[in-house]
Amino acid sequence: MPGNAEINFVGVKTTGIYCRPDCPARTPLPQNRVYFKTARQAERAGYRACRRCFPDFPPGKWGDQGSSVFLRTPPVFDFTACLKYLARSPQEPCHRVAQETLYKLLRFGQEPVLLQIRPEDSNCLGIAFLTPRPKKSIRALAAKYVWDWFDLETDLQPFYRMARKDAVLKNLVDPYYGLRLVTIPDLFEATCWAIIGQQINLKFAYALKKRFVESFGEKFNFNARAFYLFPAPDVIARQSVATLRRLQFTAQKSEYIIELAQKIQSGTFDKKALLKNNNLKSAQRELMRLRGVGKWTAAYVGLRCFKDPAALPVDDIGLQNAIKQQLGMTTKPTGKEIEGLAAPWKNWKAYATFYLWNSLA
Ligand SMILES: [Zn+2]
Repeated sequence: MPGNAEINFVGVKTTGIYCRPDCPARTPLPQNRVYFKTARQAERAGYRACRRCFPDFPPGKWGDQGSSVFLRTPPVFDFTACLKYLARSPQEPCHRVAQETLYKLLRFGQEPVLLQIRPEDSNCLGIAFLTPRPKKSIRALAAKYVWDWFDLETDLQPFYRMARKDAVLKNLVDPYYGLRLVTIPDLFEATCWAIIGQQINLKFAYALKKRFVESFGEKFNFNARAFYLFPAPDVIARQSVATLRRLQFTAQKSEYIIELAQKIQSGTFDKKALLKNNNLKSAQRELMRLRGVGKWTAAYVGLRCFKDPAALPVDDIGLQNAIKQQLGMTTKPTGKEIEGLAAPWKNWKAYATFYLWNSLA
């Protein structure tokens, strides 16, 4: 390897995989190696992260104990506040919150894993596997999923410095300190959820989601309780509009969701491809080319799935109501007014929106 201290990652041309230099996998021939300074550069060049050394998820962030893993969480993180958000509907079918503990079923390849997530101490989140202990690469993927789910990578201090001086946000910092953007990492799930929620209230949206998940999602029983995965695109891709209509989806929403599933299943619509080159604006445009995805839906998916810091769903009724409340306005602000108020939020628009949503609970 070149004697350059800045080279931290090694790509293997023949496999398209990149590793840390200390990866336990077999060392590639020198002519097949390509070097990168950052994991992001390797990803941009089209390399995939190795599943033995996890170059995109450094060991300092998580630890492996076999039947469980843990995350070393950042100092500004309030798991309870995130749980409160996740527990906002008793109808939620894709996770369960009970006694400060979160249960989540995931699937990695062939293997369903049921996670039990709860704090171990102030800077450690424990993730136990209630299904038989998965192999190490899956344990790492589960840890990484939870890391992304609670957006643990982001440093919130710049957000709070800005928010404390902002007329709309200043009263939200202390009550929600440590709340992190709760994401929906899966593109199909995030986009479906946004489409389901169009033009109906949250309660009915959750009722539809529950029917959808219980009808088409994979089920796993643990201690006499059913846990569900969000339906897989290939299952939804072969449903008919009539089938979804029986669950009380409108004909249009049924069409949108089936088309979306078909696009994801065929690989023409893919999160990694959309986020290639880290161009969130073009990802937004691509989303809006889907049938059933307008400005609001694209902003919602940008916010919850892509963690687009500048996502701002100005047409969102919850956002409008929350701003009205924070500013003591007599009428809801218009889209233009919201854009004006949000201008100083810059790259914290997604966080501001998420905090404002939470302020309505
Ligand atoms: Zn490796």
